[in-house]
Amino acid sequence: MRRFPEPISNLVATFARLPGVGPKTALRYVYYLLKQPKADLDVMARALVQLGERIRVCSVCFTYTEQEVCDICQDPKRNRAQICVVEESRDISTIESTNVYTGLYHVLGGNLNPIEGMIPDTIRIRELKEKLELDPTITEIILALSPTSHGEATMLYLSKHIQPLGRSLTRLARGLPVGATLEFADEVTLGDAMKGRKRV
Ligand SMILES: [Zn+2]
Repeated sequence: MRRFPEPISNLVATFARLPGVGPKTALRYVYYLLKQPKADLDVMARALVQLGERIRVCSVCFTYTEQEVCDICQDPKRNRAQICVVEESRDISTIESTNVYTGLYHVLGGNLNPIEGMIPDTIRIRELKEKLELDPTITEIILALSPTSHGEATMLYLSKHIQPLGRSLTRLARGLPVGATLEFADEVTLGDAMKGRKRV
């Protein structure tokens, strides 16, 4: 690539780290931004800074929130006997949009994927086990991970480690396309998969 002024090449390198964005797309974004009014760039820059400054993870379920404990974990109407285990924070909003689940969540922060360094210690499996050991009123664990190979491997690992704790362990019903991620499931399919969940 030819040499660009430093602020341009810095931002290209930053955008190119985003999922699905290569150097060419990154450069297109930067050229687009160069045509925008400076005030708009300031708004974007502030939004980025606020992301880092104001967002943290909920101390109970580990979803992204602005508070110490997120809205769902604080909601007295939620069923505290159920915990739905998801891969990422974004999966919570997908499941919430189906309106069929009223329990709590636990965000693992990824799937097991040893090649990319995701081992049981890097995702929140220990935290889930501790939660179960400390709280006997939790009666059902729902594994709502994507039916991809890494999602399946994670569910297998989790079921082996959770089953001895004597709770009802379920997973979403088949019907979600194999290999697809939860992120792209439509609400009706996901809602049905939640209602028809099966014992592991
Ligand atoms: Zn929470």
